Amino acid sequence: IQADPDGRACACGNKGCLEAHFSGAALARDAEDAAREGSSPELAARLEAAGSLTAADVAAAAAAGDAAALDLIREGGNRLGQVIASLVSFFNPGLVVIGGGVTGLGHNLLASVRTQVYKQSLPLATGNLPIVLGELGPTAGVIGAARLISDHLFSPA
Ligand SMILES: [Zn+2]
Repeated sequence: IQADPDGRACACGNKGCLEAHFSGAALARDAEDAAREGSSPELAARLEAAGSLTAADVAAAAAAGDAAALDLIREGGNRLGQVIASLVSFFNPGLVVIGGGVTGLGHNLLASVRTQVYKQSLPLATGNLPIVLGELGPTAGVIGAARLISDHLFSPA
């Protein structure tokens, strides 16, 4: 889903996809930038120690009170929330589950997403709309793919 028409190049070949701006890999890239620019001592120390950063490092830095890490999560959550708000307006779902590795960002991510969705969507659509984090973490995609295959293989048709 395109989140920014003039945005970053995405692995899929398009520009400005949400995944290119906010995903585990995008967050790791932005965290490494913040560490190198000197805006985050916590992330810089983690980068120095490990040689690279992941979304889990951003979560740990945010939990330690690192302002730059918190900003990365909030900005990503706002962007994700904007996309989810559009989906909520279109599909009017009864539940939104955020899955994948970014679920490790926990409450900071959820708070930003909820704020953006509730601000941007109609109260009629969000009046009884739980927005929660999935419980499968980074294995959600693989488990979903396995379910698709098993549904296809064992379908009566
Ligand atoms: Zn893409």
